[in-house]
Amino acid sequence: MQHSAYIKAPLYGLALGLLVSAFTACGGSEGKTGSLDSWKDSAKGSTVTGEEVSVLAGDTLLAKGDYTNFTLGGQAYTEPGATSALLFHTQAGKGGYEVLFHNGAIDGSTKTGSLSHVRNLYRSLATDTAWFDFEMAVRGKNIAVSINGVDVVCYTEPAQPYRSADHTDQLLGKGAFALVGKSGKTAFKNLHVTVLPADATNPNDTLPAIDEQNDAIIRLQQKDFPVIDWHVHLKGGLTKEQAHGLSMNYGINYGVAPNAGEGGVGRMLANDQEVYAYHDEVKNHPFLFGVQGEGRRWITQFSPEALGIFDYLFTDGMTIVDKGRISRIYRAEEVYYDGRSKEQYMDLIVDQTVKILTNEPADIYANPTYIPEDMQADYDKYWTDERINKVLDVMEQNHIALEINPRYKIPSFKIIQMAKDRGLKFTFGTNNVDANFGKLEYAIEAIQTCGLTPADLWFPTMSVRRERQAVDYNHFGKK
Ligand SMILES: [Zn+2]
Repeated sequence: MQHSAYIKAPLYGLALGLLVSAFTACGGSEGKTGSLDSWKDSAKGSTVTGEEVSVLAGDTLLAKGDYTNFTLGGQAYTEPGATSALLFHTQAGKGGYEVLFHNGAIDGSTKTGSLSHVRNLYRSLATDTAWFDFEMAVRGKNIAVSINGVDVVCYTEPAQPYRSADHTDQLLGKGAFALVGKSGKTAFKNLHVTVLPADATNPNDTLPAIDEQNDAIIRLQQKDFPVIDWHVHLKGGLTKEQAHGLSMNYGINYGVAPNAGEGGVGRMLANDQEVYAYHDEVKNHPFLFGVQGEGRRWITQFSPEALGIFDYLFTDGMTIVDKGRISRIYRAEEVYYDGRSKEQYMDLIVDQTVKILTNEPADIYANPTYIPEDMQADYDKYWTDERINKVLDVMEQNHIALEINPRYKIPSFKIIQMAKDRGLKFTFGTNNVDANFGKLEYAIEAIQTCGLTPADLWFPTMSVRRERQAVDYNHFGKK
């Protein structure tokens, strides 16, 4: 991808909500805002009118009208666990797109604001049992969705969209709105539509449309296979605004994580105060929020409460303690063989990894099975079955997920297969160094090669880290 694309990345969150409501009768004339307050219940043959309307599982409410370019705004309220959808460009509830309403914990289900099967989202910016604002807009080929004033979808339908057999009619055209109840009860109020001119454009839509004929991500989205990169760092020039724009453009949910501890590259959080300040800074962005325990002292530097505010916590085995020295094994000058063979050094790495995963309460083993650069050519020789099983044993005992890392292309498919056979769960995580990172290519290869399904994926609702004890096994706290 060309670098200029990033420079053009817009300041998201500014464009929607500029239209001042001027309520008039419901109608289709350009530039006018009208209330969407009359719905036909097709099953019951009745009409529902009023400022507030609700749907239950199985309900389909149809509104009159034929809209092409528009903005639709309002408020929604979900009872615990409720799921519903607002359809647009639909003909009697068939075809067109749907925007989903479903809140709650990050459990792998698609969340509020999702443009279903095209831009599925996995963390909601809204909560159950509280009214929240939403807005959606179609301008030309661009579809935008915002929740509580934050853009969560900016999708441009390309000239040749990819649609699976289940979703062939999920395309822009024109049509009406519909409300569909899927489970529980969702209420909507103050729904208002503004008709936009035929040449309307989204000023925030500055990144090139994805060529879906050659895009693996849309194929996963169409299957509702969660597409999440859990290991994104705001470093090397990647700002949170750019990450936001890229995430929406690519259709990859980003788990954005700072490093907590010492010794890593880029921004480090050093204490609880910095953790809370960071969290405040990013909390309104549509990211999943992780934190990476960095170095080995991190377990003594933070309270469980502070680290507990993140959706997930991960660490890696790239920093080890060797005869009392800290070695970052991704730096050749810190790999001290001291007359030991590479086999002996490999034993040290495995031993350290087992200690880390035993004593440091992480959800995910990141950059897994990384070995020093001068050993990488013989990765399969050093990662013997016995060594692999030592690491997988401790992961299994502590319910730790295995990251599949596209930057380093690790772990090997053999190890992924062994982990899958044990029932271990997986995350995909890049560990980017700058703004120019890929689209989970190695993880997508692993899905295909190892037959991974959504049931193999880890989500924060599976986390046990808050019940685990951080053990200061290196006795850093005593110094
Ligand atoms: Zn990292």
